[in-house]
Amino acid sequence: MVVYTDPIKDRAGLERKLAIDSYHVDPNRAHIWIIDHETCLQCERQQCINCCPAACYAPQPDGRVIFSYEGCVECGTCRIVCNEFDNIAWTYPRGGFGIQYRYG
Ligand code: SF4
Repeated sequence: MVVYTDPIKDRAGLERKLAIDSYHVDPNRAHIWIIDHETCLQCERQQCINCCPAACYAPQPDGRVIFSYEGCVECGTCRIVCNEFDNIAWTYPRGGFGIQYRYG
């Protein structure tokens, strides 16, 4: 049995910082998605989980990954680190939606 630990060392601290920003979530269109959840089972590193600064990727006990676009900070990191299987479809949110930074 595989035991997963939270890759985020200080989740409460992360959430406090992200809460400063403002999000206008598009309820009708995810701007990023995992193309094929079965492909994640072949990916040993699953760097999306470790590298996303907003913890949008969550490991599941069966080896799959769940993604939530609502908290995305649009940094583009997941687009870069999923370079073995290219299994992430990535676009920016539609105009008027997405994150609004509070500190520049
Ligand atoms: Fe996370 Fe950045 Fe990818 Fe958004 S663009 S899901 S914040 S790694």
